[in-house]
Amino acid sequence: MTDKTPRARRIVLASGNAGKLKEFQSLLGDAGFEVIPQSEFNVSDAEETGLSFVENAILKARHACRATGLPALADDSGLEVDALLGKPGIYSSRFAGEDGPDKDSANNQKLLNSLQGLAQAERSARFQCVLVYMRHAEDPTPLICQGSWEGQILHKISGEGGFGYDPLFYVPEHDCSAAELSKSEKNAISHRGKAMQQLLSQLERLL
Ligand code: IMP
Repeated sequence: MTDKTPRARRIVLASGNAGKLKEFQSLLGDAGFEVIPQSEFNVSDAEETGLSFVENAILKARHACRATGLPALADDSGLEVDALLGKPGIYSSRFAGEDGPDKDSANNQKLLNSLQGLAQAERSARFQCVLVYMRHAEDPTPLICQGSWEGQILHKISGEGGFGYDPLFYVPEHDCSAAELSKSEKNAISHRGKAMQQLLSQLERLL
């Protein structure tokens, strides 16, 4: 942490995920922001009691602001499947139960079972990502950026890359699954990539 960075350009990341920290540091670091993980301030994870991605991202960002006195950034993301009325949605990471070593494959298997018998045309879905930046815990106008990525759920897993539901997510632009894309191909079109680009331009405008 450097004491020379102006307060507004020091951002606490309300996440314990090392991969996300790296992504945000690389995107925002180039633009003159310092992204500090909340673990550096011994901040525990907020309880995600909201019923939407936006509510949960706000809860996480507010919790980090309150605990550190600094601006904070939080994200919430997941998969929406039309045939399941938007499920697994905010419960995407624990669709098949709580955390475990095989969480991703259990979630993918549950998704396949839930869509059994549905033709490709009935398997439309999208990933959603919401990013929230708050200047302080009482910020009445948080920055809210939302990116979505349209696709379909395949009939079986395909590809080794990515994480989560990537092996089941068919990407029409590339005619393959999200797990078959390179990191840069995915970032260029993904829900998270789009939300991050919005965040960058909104932050530049705000500050
Ligand atoms: P969170 O944003 O870390 O809470 O992630 C929610 C869950 O949504 C993840 O655990 C994944 O199951 C799913 N998810 C979010 N983004 C992606 C993605 O880019 N690929 C695959 N699964 C994703």
